[in-house]
Amino acid sequence: MAAYVFGHTNPDSDSIIGAISLAYLKNQLGQECIPARQGEISPETKFILEKFGGELPLLKTEYAGEDVYIVDHSDLAQSPKDVLEANILGIVDHHKLGDITTSAPLECWIRPVGCSNTVIKEMYDYHGIVIPKNIAGMMLCAILSDTVIFKSPTCTKIDTKACKELASIAGIEDYKALGMEMFKVKSAVEGASARELVMRDYKDFDMSGNKVGVGQLEVVDLSVFDNKKEMLFEDLKALKAEGARHTVMLLLTDIIEEGSQLLVVSDDESIIEKAFETKLQNHEAWLPKVLSRKKQVIPFLEKAFK
Ligand code: MG
Ligand code: MG
Ligand code: MG
Repeated sequence: MAAYVFGHTNPDSDSIIGAISLAYLKNQLGQECIPARQGEISPETKFILEKFGGELPLLKTEYAGEDVYIVDHSDLAQSPKDVLEANILGIVDHHKLGDITTSAPLECWIRPVGCSNTVIKEMYDYHGIVIPKNIAGMMLCAILSDTVIFKSPTCTKIDTKACKELASIAGIEDYKALGMEMFKVKSAVEGASARELVMRDYKDFDMSGNKVGVGQLEVVDLSVFDNKKEMLFEDLKALKAEGARHTVMLLLTDIIEEGSQLLVVSDDESIIEKAFETKLQNHEAWLPKVLSRKKQVIPFLEKAFK
C-alpha cells in the first residue's frame, strides 16, 4: 500500500515541496509514497512549481486507514481531522512539538532549523540518495521562503549550508536573487479577496483551551496593504465568529524593514498586549524585528494565555 506524504492545512511552500521531496526520497528507498496536500497552493508555491517543473501534489483531506508521513507540523489543529485514524509512519518537522500522538513506533525527524526541507536534505545525505536537479531547486526555494532569505531568527547555519549545496545541484548561482524574485511574487496581493489573504498562510492553535488563529503575509513593502486594512479587519472578525475563536491575528510582515504590523481581533486584547509588551492602537501594533511566527509570536502568546 502506498503511503501519503502531506504538510499542514493552508499549505505553504515548505509543506508542498516537503511532500514532493520526502515522497521522492522514500520512493528511492523502496517505499511507495504519493505526495499530497490539504488545500490550495499559494501564488509563491505556484511560482516554484512552474519554475522547476514540479507536479502539483494530490488534493486529499481524509486519511483514515491510510499509511502517512506528516511534514511541517505536528499539531492536530493543522492536520486532517481523521489523522489519528491513519497509520502515522513518520513526522518530519521544524516546529514546536505538537499534540499528534501515535500508537505504534514511528520515524521522527524534528529539528530546530529554519525549514522542513532542510531536515529532508539531511535525510537525503544520511541515506546517500542523490537529489534530482529540479527537486533541489524546489527545496532551495522552500528554505529561502521559510527563512525569509536567511533573515528569520529561525535560520541556522545548517539551513544556509543546505541552500548552498542545493543551489549547486540545481545549477543556480545567485540564489538570493531567486529568493527576492519569489518574495515579489508573494507580495502581489491585488485582486485577492480578504479571505484569500487572511488564509494564505494561516494557522489555528489551541492555547490553554482557547482557539487562537494567526495568519501571516510576508511582503517586500507594507504599502500594498494601505487601502486593505478595513477589509482585512472585517474578515478577521468574520473568521473569529465562524470558528468560535478567542482571538484571530494577522501579521503583516515587511521583510525589508524587518518587522510586523499586527492586526488583532480578540475577546481580550490585554492578553495580546501582555504577550508582546505593547499597547494596541485601534487593534494594531508595530512589532519591530518580528519576522517569525513560530519563534517570535506563538511562544509569547502561549505563555500569555496560560
Ligand atoms: Mg509551513
Ligand atoms: Mg516550514
Ligand atoms: Mg512561513
